[in-house]
Amino acid sequence: MTHDGTPPLPPPPPLSDQWALFLDVDGTLAAFADQPDGVSVASPVVDRLDELSRMLDGALALVSGRRIETLDALFAPHRFAAAGLHGLQRRRAGEEPPPPAAPPAALEAIKAQAAALLRERYPDALLEDKGEAIALHWRLMPEAAADLQAFAMQALTRLPDYHLQPGDHVVELRPARGDKGEAIAAFLDELPFLGRRPVFVGDDLTDEHGFEVVNARGGISVLVGDRAGSAAEHRLPGIDAVYAWLGAGA
Ligand SMILES: [Mg+2]
Repeated sequence: MTHDGTPPLPPPPPLSDQWALFLDVDGTLAAFADQPDGVSVASPVVDRLDELSRMLDGALALVSGRRIETLDALFAPHRFAAAGLHGLQRRRAGEEPPPPAAPPAALEAIKAQAAALLRERYPDALLEDKGEAIALHWRLMPEAAADLQAFAMQALTRLPDYHLQPGDHVVELRPARGDKGEAIAAFLDELPFLGRRPVFVGDDLTDEHGFEVVNARGGISVLVGDRAGSAAEHRLPGIDAVYAWLGAGA
């Protein structure tokens, strides 16, 4: 039994070429850094993902809270199929990212207020501008958590059709449409994903939507780490275990 009384989850089975493989990025394929733009993915891992994508006839997609443009930079020179901004953006392998939507005017004012709050009170917290979404990170300043969450809650009242996406040392304000589960379901409706058994690996709260979709379709849901209360049915303890499972020497 684990600390919260739930049975420990088994590891996922060995990779199969019959799968459609969906992979979160931060906390799954890439270690967290002090700042989101400090993250990188080692080239043997990137190359192994390209190999796996070929083995799966292209049925491999990154499913991340980052923008697809940022994923393309992290995984260059490859342009994997990808969902970005927690499912708000989606594109097929090799294509350009979808054009960015204009953020609502209220979001610009909120960005300026958030920047001022950080400057005055939480200089080691971070505002990440994702265009239509913003994220407030407090990895380096845990004492800012309550105030930044309160700021985001208040800001949400001025952003119709937005919602709060909580995460690991972060809260995000993002358009309410789309989630990782919907993005995975949309990929599964089209080739090369169609008809394959879905497998999704992720670590954070935003990944729960994906786990639910994959479970409902007889797929394999894999939690990275030991977060309690996950819908995932399998578990890998950390990024190194993900690499080992994927056959990626890092
Ligand atoms: Mg993650």
